[in-house]
Amino acid sequence: MKGARRLVDLLRSKQDNDKSLGQHFLINDELIAEAIELGEVTRADHVLEIGPGPGVLTEALLATGCKVTAIEIDSGAVAHLGQVFAAEINDARLMLQEGDALKLRWPADVTKVIANIPYQISSPLVDQLTKQLRSTWRECLIKVILLVQEEFAERLVMEYESDVGSLGMTALIDWQSDIKVNVAPHHFSPNPKVNSCFIEMIPSHESFPVDKRLIKQIIHQGFKQRRKKLRTSLKSIPKRLNRIPDWYSGRWKSAYSSLLGDIRLDARPEELDFDDWVTLAHDFTKFAKCDTKGSQ
Ligand code: SAM
Repeated sequence: MKGARRLVDLLRSKQDNDKSLGQHFLINDELIAEAIELGEVTRADHVLEIGPGPGVLTEALLATGCKVTAIEIDSGAVAHLGQVFAAEINDARLMLQEGDALKLRWPADVTKVIANIPYQISSPLVDQLTKQLRSTWRECLIKVILLVQEEFAERLVMEYESDVGSLGMTALIDWQSDIKVNVAPHHFSPNPKVNSCFIEMIPSHESFPVDKRLIKQIIHQGFKQRRKKLRTSLKSIPKRLNRIPDWYSGRWKSAYSSLLGDIRLDARPEELDFDDWVTLAHDFTKFAKCDTKGSQ
């Protein structure tokens, strides 16, 4: 094993650090070992790593004997990884892909996602993980371990009352999320200005009496104007409503009108817990039967 410091220095000897890509590299081998332990990685796993950079996590993952698919956007880092891990690439134990992880197709048989991600893609990445979990990863994904900014982690798990919001509430539809380990800035090179955390996300596979996409859109719509009562925020039709089968603006308006006398609409979004949102979404469905003509 080369170890984190040497891999980071090796990449640095070839190119400067690109801050716009969130390049804060982990240099503490103990924390890297902790990530592998949190992921309970075994040789049976196929791990997806987003943003391998110098390969500090990649090296530790490969040492467990698992298969890794690593997606990196920086072509200099990809060339470096290609040299460092030439043998593993040759043995098809490391599949290295160059490109934007949010745009490339992910393998269908991933069992774990373990990554120190660029913090600027945290929210869209969670959305993408959720989409994948609901489709090709339904049967295979066991867990996700991500190193993220502390503030994002707290909103995801809704650590404090002030963190209650759309991100954490919608994540509950598909995941049980937990903050596992706090990581201070000095464990990275260069040091970020913020604290970080390892989070764990376990698929909950919970089923609901209503389309998950409708629950998500009602939560989003409710939190769009978080100081307003739901009566006001739910009056507007979610922009992406027609992406949900059988939903269109006329149906939303009719559901909203049927619920106008309901005292839940006098609440502000943070006053509803997750079960309340599910029930509200279900009631939206019940009170506005689908018009098969799909009128607008
Ligand atoms: N995994 C390494 C570590 O733990 O030190 C590097 C982590 S660094 C925080 C994030 C990495 O993601 C960088 O190497 C950066 O180039 C890469 N990256 C940034 N945006 C990306 C994207 N959209 N898709 C794939 N990789 C990306």
